[in-house]
Amino acid sequence: MTMTYLSAQLLIDGEFLDSGSRMTSRVENPANNEFLGEVPHATAADLDRALAASQRAFESWRKVQPGERGRILRRAAELLHEREEHIARLITLEVGKTLAESRWEIMLAAHALEWFAEEARRTYGRVLPSRLNGATRFTVVKEPVGPIASFAPWNWPVDNAAKKIGAALAAGCTCIHKPAEEAPASALEVARALVDAGLPPGVLSMVYGVPAEISEHLLRSPVVRKVSFTGSIPVGKHLMKLAADGCKRTTMELGGHAPVLVFDDVDVDAVLDMAMLSKFRNAGQVCVSPTRFYVQERIYERFVDGFAQRARGWTVGDGLLPSSKMGPLAHARQRGRIEILLNDALTRGARLAAGGRRIEGKGYFFEPTILADVPEHARIMNEEPFGPVAVVNPFSTFEDGIAKANCSPVGLAAYGFSENARIVARLGDELEAGMVALNSFAIAMPGTPFLGIKESGHGAENGIEGVEACLVTKVISQA
Ligand code: NAD
Repeated sequence: MTMTYLSAQLLIDGEFLDSGSRMTSRVENPANNEFLGEVPHATAADLDRALAASQRAFESWRKVQPGERGRILRRAAELLHEREEHIARLITLEVGKTLAESRWEIMLAAHALEWFAEEARRTYGRVLPSRLNGATRFTVVKEPVGPIASFAPWNWPVDNAAKKIGAALAAGCTCIHKPAEEAPASALEVARALVDAGLPPGVLSMVYGVPAEISEHLLRSPVVRKVSFTGSIPVGKHLMKLAADGCKRTTMELGGHAPVLVFDDVDVDAVLDMAMLSKFRNAGQVCVSPTRFYVQERIYERFVDGFAQRARGWTVGDGLLPSSKMGPLAHARQRGRIEILLNDALTRGARLAAGGRRIEGKGYFFEPTILADVPEHARIMNEEPFGPVAVVNPFSTFEDGIAKANCSPVGLAAYGFSENARIVARLGDELEAGMVALNSFAIAMPGTPFLGIKESGHGAENGIEGVEACLVTKVISQA
């Protein structure tokens, strides 16, 4: 099974580079802890070379016709589709998610590149008549911000790379992308598809290493004009401080703690069936994963029982096996964090309705877990478990439910379920989140901005806002 894995390479100035004499770190399969391969760490000289290439390539890439930039992005999307089975296997080997989820991720990534290919043509400006004299014309134009440094986590290695790189390239920017060291080979396939599609050298570099050292090096350079990060809130805040020193723009996607309000007029079984698919996708390691379920009192016990029964029957196993509905956690530290949060909640009086334990043996498997009656002061009510854990608590009135849903310092995704049109409309207005899904868990697509409010970050990926975030505005007056 592991034989097909090829160790990642660096991509710098159009050259794919093996580890050579560089330091490396180990990539392992989270389903069985087997060694998959090595990931080369970029040296300071490698990073300087990537920066110089990014600066040089920017001068020509920004002038490439948007239609031609789009053609390369579209061809790269086709290549991702053609290579789906190979890349899906890499994602599953590195991250653990099921093959079906990995294939779906590749489709999302290809759709993002296709979206940006079209959007590359629409970086419109405007022309205004002068208030002073008729002969002066004011033109507002959009220009690419410059070389972008982007940093992505391990949970969606291919889609995160496609979203960040696609927006940058469509806007005419160059990009130095650092994927997660846990999933380097999957992310590199996005770079391979772009290079094979005809991307000129230097427009995209891909580097790995010690994350804090790489970001410090890149962000200290005057070459980098914008930073895009997806990951935890503390790291996001750290990168914002580094970016502030150079007045660099930032886009921050920092995770959530999504509430779900379920009113007592819904079809409980239908909502539970949808909730299972959404909660346990990628073993809960998804920033928009539904986590805090608030269920109206009349259906509360039935909802908890139905959720627990379904969770106990959910098949957990190696993502390569067709029978698996949920794979392992991506690494040991995720499992340790979840156990700490669960112990804290249980000590404070929460009720364990299903799961709650690591699955002994090889790999980082954890049982699908349902916690009920969780005290508001338990850590899990505020800290993102980022794992296969759903919290279920009751609410009484609309106002009580909204207050509980909105009491979090983060606001990425929020969900609401009701058959009452008036309630649904109010939920859309009153839930505090960048993205709200009503009577569904479908929260995003390439054409819609992916974004959070409060401590979930700022700026957007995807949608026209995702391209806009890679542009600066200039006013030119001409007499
Ligand atoms: P983390 O923030 O430490 O790491 C996330 C990614 O950021 C990693 O892939 C890492 O390579 C990179 N990173 C870490 N430090 C960096 C730095 N100084 N400069 C540049 N890049 C850096 O998070 P983690 O330990 O992998 O996961 C813990 C928590 O982070 C999760 O529980 C979750 O809350 C959050 N998270 C959110 C997302 C998301 O999609 N928003 C993804 C992964 C993790």
